[in-house]
Amino acid sequence: MAVMITDACINCGDCASECPVAAILDEGNERNPYNGEQFYVKPESCVECVGHADTPRCAEACPTEGCIVWDMPYTADFTEYYETKNEEGVYKIRVHKKKGLMLPSVKAQPFMEEITADLRESHAPVADSF
Ligand code: SF4
Ligand code: SF4
Repeated sequence: MAVMITDACINCGDCASECPVAAILDEGNERNPYNGEQFYVKPESCVECVGHADTPRCAEACPTEGCIVWDMPYTADFTEYYETKNEEGVYKIRVHKKKGLMLPSVKAQPFMEEITADLRESHAPVADSF
């Protein structure tokens, strides 16, 4: 990813329209593994707003404290992490007709290099980093 949305989400919808790459799915979307429960960030699409804004726009817009948190970079180093969590149902990574599962090893995404591994591993709230 990226960033991820936790179960603190109240489904207000304020974040999705702010995302520059349409990485956020509402609670009713069939590609959302938390279908019916909460909004979801597609890790294979999120660019952490790099090249679009100084800070993640979704977290700027979210009214719920601690709802949008850091996750690991979507880079080849974290392929196993994302593959395992995809199998566990934490993510629902897109399957491409020719390329297969769009893991970071297939297509990596930009990430904010200044965010430490500790913040990412502990899923610290994004809003607290700025
Ligand atoms: S960090 Fe940026 S690119 Fe990622 S989901 Fe939020 S708004 Fe979209
Ligand atoms: S803005 Fe926050 S609370 Fe509202 S839908 Fe998005 S993640 Fe959920």
